[in-house]
Amino acid sequence: VNEFDIIRECFDKPVTDNSVVVGIGDDGAVCRPDADRELLCVIDTLVADVHFPGALSPEDLGYRAVAVNLSDVAAMGGRPRWMTLALSIVESDHGWISAFADGLFEAAHEFDVRLVGGDTTSARQVVVTVQIAGDVPQGRAILRSGACPGDSIFVTGTLGDARAGLALYDNGSVGNCSVDKCSVDNHSVGDRHARFLRQRFARPSARVGIGQALVGVASAAIDVSDGLAGDLSKLLQASGAGGRLQINDLPLSEALAAKHNDDAAREMALTGGDDYELCFTSSAELERIQCMADDFAVPITCIGMVTDAPTLDCFDGDVAVDVEIAGYRHFG
Ligand code: ADP
Ligand code: MG
Repeated sequence: VNEFDIIRECFDKPVTDNSVVVGIGDDGAVCRPDADRELLCVIDTLVADVHFPGALSPEDLGYRAVAVNLSDVAAMGGRPRWMTLALSIVESDHGWISAFADGLFEAAHEFDVRLVGGDTTSARQVVVTVQIAGDVPQGRAILRSGACPGDSIFVTGTLGDARAGLALYDNGSVGNCSVDKCSVDNHSVGDRHARFLRQRFARPSARVGIGQALVGVASAAIDVSDGLAGDLSKLLQASGAGGRLQINDLPLSEALAAKHNDDAAREMALTGGDDYELCFTSSAELERIQCMADDFAVPITCIGMVTDAPTLDCFDGDVAVDVEIAGYRHFG
């Protein structure tokens, strides 16, 4: 099959939405934004063996490519609207591509975003780039730079799961992922904890609803893609602030705690990437944040406080601990 058949059969689905004036089929898409809102643009690329293991199914890859972008929209407090897809594949295997498209459209339907165009090419390895345009009420986007000393630091969901899940894939080492596989019990890869952890890597949580609810509540936000310690440091740096992080308060899933000893679990929660939870700061009452957690049925945990120190300082109870802050880096 050539790329035109691929596009027609797998990606060119009818769009019944009057925000899409011209969709797939012309040189470009024409979309109609709402008058009182600002446009938000995000893009993320997934490269085979850098961002995902070859063992990831095409459905999960399609879902994940959308979810990681939705997570950026969520971190800005935005509503996702339209997306484009640049797909580079090694061979035009119809079964693979249509499975990939199924996963992609599953995420698109779940989060109400429309595929309006793209590009399809051959390459030596699979590279998937999704771009999402979303919108926010004028002047209300949540930035990294708004944290103030005294604000509490929160995180949604649980941390470290995706890193533990990645290690459970065959050849689960990608990029500079450095999970000690010896701490993974490979004999029970099929059990429910292992399935949960793998799912957390394959189909990341995109906290789109919570992100929009945080507009006017969060002073700053970032999504946790490269590891909490590194991503929180970026937020604090952008805000010209420091922080105190209680590593004993990091939210860990039952599955992560069951599969790894305390030290390994905490390490993954602090530095493992790919969780796509939201880390945000807020001066709101804890009860208000708790209500939000209840509304969305997602735990939201206070993990520290913004300070006027120059650095992010980590504590286990009252004891200061040294933490390797650096998140994932592609170069150097
Ligand atoms: P052009 O030569 O103008 O770039 P193409 O022939 O590459 O156009 O693409 C034809 C149409 O199909 C365009 O509307 C483009 O946006 C869309 N398209 C191409 N690849 C994809 C894809 N993987 N997913 C969705 N739409 C795609
Ligand atoms: Mg053209």
